[in-house]
Amino acid sequence: MDPATGESFDSPQPTERSAIDHVITTAPLKWGTPIERARVLLRAAQLLRHRNDELAKIETRDTGKPFSETSTVDVVTGADVLEYYAHLVGGGGLNGEMIRLREDAWVYSTKEPLGLCVGIGAWNYPLQIALWKSAPCLAAGNSMIYKPSEFTQLHAQALSDIYLEAGVPSNVFNVVYGDGKVGAYLTSHPAIAKVSFTGQVSTGMKVAASAAGDLKYVTMELGGKSPLIILPDTDVEHAVDGAMMANFFSTGQVCTNGTRVFVQSDMVSAFEKRLLEKMKYVRSGDPMETATNFGPLISRLHYDKVIQYIKHGCDVDKAHLIYGGTKKPVMPTKLRDGFWVKPTIFSNCTDDMRIVQEEIFGPVMTILEYSTVDEVVARANATPLGLAAGVFTKDLNLAYKVVSQLEAGITWINTWGESPAEMSVGGWKKSGLGVENGKKGLEGWVQNKSTLVDMGGTVTTVFSETVDRAS
Ligand code: NAD
Repeated sequence: MDPATGESFDSPQPTERSAIDHVITTAPLKWGTPIERARVLLRAAQLLRHRNDELAKIETRDTGKPFSETSTVDVVTGADVLEYYAHLVGGGGLNGEMIRLREDAWVYSTKEPLGLCVGIGAWNYPLQIALWKSAPCLAAGNSMIYKPSEFTQLHAQALSDIYLEAGVPSNVFNVVYGDGKVGAYLTSHPAIAKVSFTGQVSTGMKVAASAAGDLKYVTMELGGKSPLIILPDTDVEHAVDGAMMANFFSTGQVCTNGTRVFVQSDMVSAFEKRLLEKMKYVRSGDPMETATNFGPLISRLHYDKVIQYIKHGCDVDKAHLIYGGTKKPVMPTKLRDGFWVKPTIFSNCTDDMRIVQEEIFGPVMTILEYSTVDEVVARANATPLGLAAGVFTKDLNLAYKVVSQLEAGITWINTWGESPAEMSVGGWKKSGLGVENGKKGLEGWVQNKSTLVDMGGTVTTVFSETVDRAS
C-alpha cells in the first residue's frame, strides 16, 4: 500500500514453504575467493549507484519517504557498505593470524564462512537494511536468505536482480516473502547458521530465543529511546537543528532517533522559541516533489499506534503539547487517505511519562529540563534501552566525559544520525546484540579456525612404555 495515498498496489505474495525449503537445500554454503567476491560486489555497488533514482523511486513508493531523502540517503548508504566490504575482503580483511610457537611449531588461524545465513528486515530503511546485512554476509563468503518486512517488499527483487547481474552465483542471495510466521520458520530451521535481525525489541527477543535452540549466531539491531543532551553553552541554532534532525527526519521512523531531548533549564525558553520558529521548515507534501522533506507514516497500523501515543501524552501523561497533535494535517486531495501525521513536540516532560519511556517510532519529540551534568547523565541512562545517545556542546573535554558515561552503542558529539559504512553500529542493553558495519561488522559473519602445526617429528605423549618417575 502506498503510505502517501493509502492506495494499494501489487506486492509479492508470501513464499510457499516448499519454495523456502528448496532454497535452503540448494543454497551453497560458501562461494568464491575473497578477490572474486570483491570484484562481483564492487560491480553490484556500481549498478546500485547507476540505478540510484530508479531504486529511490521504488523506496519512496513503498515507504512514503520523500524522494529528496531516498535519492540521497537510502541507496547511497547501502552502496557505500557494499563497496566498503568488497574493498575490505579484497584487501586482506579476512586474513587470519600466524603465530610462531616454537622453532618447529606454529599456529595459524583462518576466518571461515558460517554457511547459510538469514537476514530479516524492518520497514523503515528496506534497501539499506538489506544491504547492511547482505554486503558483509556475501563478502565473507556466505549465502543469504533475506526476508524483507511484509510492509515493504518492493526493493528485494530489484536488489536480487542487481546481485545476479553483477555476477553473484544463483542461490547465493535468495529472497523470501511473508510475515513473522515465515521469519519464525527461518529462525528455527536447523540448516541456518546465523540470523541477523532488525526490528522491535519484543520481536528480537522471540527471534533470539528461537535461534538459541540450535545455538545459531545472532545479530540483533533493535529499538531505542535515545537521549540527546544539550549542554548550556551550545548555540541555540545548532541545538535546534540537531534536535529536529534527531526527531523528524524520515518522519521520526529512525531507530536511533534522539526523542528524549534534555535541555538545561536556563536554555529551555530560547530553545523552544527557535524550535517553534523553525518547524515551518518541516514540509509535508507529495513525496516525489523536491521541496517535500516529511512523508507519511508507513501504514494504517503504525499511524494508529503513533496517534495513540500522542493522545496518551496529552490525556494521561499531561505533557505540554507545544506543536502538532492528533489532528490530521490538511493535505491535497490525492494525499488525503495517506497516513499523514503532524510532527509533534511535547514540552515540560518528566522521566516517568509513557511518551518519554517507550519507543514511539514516529515524529514525537519530548523535551525534558535538567540542572546539572551529573543529573542529566544519570537520567539519560535510566532506560532499559541503549541504542544511541549524544551531546551538543562547545566544550569538547566535557563532551568526551559525558559520552564516556552514556550507556549506548552509537554516540554522537555535535551531530546526529550519520552512520557511515566505516562506523560499527549496534545497541547496548535491550537495544541489540553485536554490530553492523565497520571492520567489526565483518567478524559477525565468519567463524574462526585455529590450526597448530608441529614439525618436531615426534608426538609428545604420556602413553609411553617406560615411566619416568621423578626422583
Ligand atoms: P518488527 O519487529 O515488527 O518486524 C521486523 C521483522 O521481523 C519483519 O520482517 C517481520 O516480518 C519479522 N518478524 C515478526 N515476527 C517475527 C518472528 N516471530 N520471527 C521472525 N521474524 C519475525 O519491526 P518493524 O516494526 O518492522 O520495525 C521497526 C522497529 O525496528 C523499531 O523498533 C526500530 O527501532 C527497529 N529498527 C532498528 C534498527 C537498528 O539498527 N537498531 C534499524 C531499523 C529499525
